Amino acid sequence: MAILSEDKRQPELNIGVVGHVDHGKTTLVQALTGIWTMRHSEEIKRGMTIKLGYADGEVWECEGCGYPEKYSPEPVCECSSEATPRLLRRVSYVDAPGHEILMATMLSGAALMDGAILVVAANEPCPQPQTREHLVALEIIGIRNIVIVQNKVDVVSPERARESYREIKRFVEGTIAEEAPVIPVSALKRANIDAVLAAIQEYMPTPPRDLESPPLMFIARSFDVNKPGTPPERLVGGVVGGAIMHGVFRVGDEVEIKPGLAVKRPGGRIEYVPLYTRIESLRFGRIEVEEAKPGGLVAIGTSLDPSVTKSDNLVGNIVGRPGETPPVLDEVTVEYSLLERVVGMKEEVRVEPIRRGEMLMLTVGTAITLGLATSVSKDRVSIRLRRPIVGWDGARVAISRRIHGRWRLVGWGVLRE
Ligand code: GDP
Ligand code: 5GP
Repeated sequence: MAILSEDKRQPELNIGVVGHVDHGKTTLVQALTGIWTMRHSEEIKRGMTIKLGYADGEVWECEGCGYPEKYSPEPVCECSSEATPRLLRRVSYVDAPGHEILMATMLSGAALMDGAILVVAANEPCPQPQTREHLVALEIIGIRNIVIVQNKVDVVSPERARESYREIKRFVEGTIAEEAPVIPVSALKRANIDAVLAAIQEYMPTPPRDLESPPLMFIARSFDVNKPGTPPERLVGGVVGGAIMHGVFRVGDEVEIKPGLAVKRPGGRIEYVPLYTRIESLRFGRIEVEEAKPGGLVAIGTSLDPSVTKSDNLVGNIVGRPGETPPVLDEVTVEYSLLERVVGMKEEVRVEPIRRGEMLMLTVGTAITLGLATSVSKDRVSIRLRRPIVGWDGARVAISRRIHGRWRLVGWGVLRE
């Protein structure tokens, strides 16, 4: 394995991989990283909880080769010239679930993305329901750097490939993805992966990062990493994984996790109490680092009892320095807009206005919570939350509503004080 220089150890960018179920997102991530992330469809069949998959990958360049063959996810060289491949960037891929019941998970993943690859299978008419829904989600969250992968070209005729291309171009007309390149790919056969990497290099620059503000991380996963049977002296504390929005975390930092754990008070009242802990280790995949800044998905090893972090128990919380994090809110005011039509359904359904007393689902960062609309005007709604969130003025919110038994994305907005 090549030795990574100090400045290349941390991924620079989080790339969401989105699109309809079975269009090849997980296969593409495997082609880009060698890693098979959690299979959402298998998780559903086995009744498991649904998690965001993520995997780190690399972009290498061999200057001797032509374009786009010079790009590879590995330090290899197509042209077998004397040139030594050079590591351009490490990136994290967030594999968002494409199944319709998992939209909330997709939305919470979107909060972590700097750019997105929209995967569209060439052997199905475009758009499929979640192709449309995921593109709307990217627009809502404000993800502008998009690359479209037209996948499964190995199973279609050249005529169908051209038709599928036209369908895709028509579909993205007038949307945030209008200018996005469309790359024909076979993720399964690993054909044209170099062109995907070339598009990533061209269309997804590493964004400028704010390293000065107090550090803040959204928790997207949380784990007990101890294998069963580990002797007590070798047990490590709970691990929380996610994306740093701004600032820098260092090993040894004291941190707080909010809103924290639900505690039942006398009388049955539930109160959330923040957790205070110390950063024992920082990791990007298998790579240990001493400090972590925005870019990639970091795993923070803490001194918490691992039973507190196991099974994604802390997803939706934030991590920051004690006293320097935004407030916990039980009630929020959202300045909102509604979509015209409900996306993600085969049939056309108009979005009705929000009603007082209605239950809504909000996604803020990685937090997903239900709340009751207590007062509604044309552009503002106050919502009493069932479970509190950490929020601040201007934080982006996705709004979903239950329609025919499923939570559907119907609008978006920002939190207002
Ligand atoms: P996801 O639900 O979007 O993550 O889709 P998967 O990556 O799980 O792929 C769904 C199915 O399509 C699997 O059986 C894959 O082997 C298959 N698949 C993915 N990419 C390709 C491709 O480029 N060509 C062909 N023929 N099949 C593919
Ligand atoms: P797994 O349980 O799959 O080995 O690990 C789950 C996640 O926790 C991965 O993101 C991995 O990088 C991270 N992780 C595992 N052990 C440690 C550790 O000792 N310290 C830190 N910071 N992260 C860890």
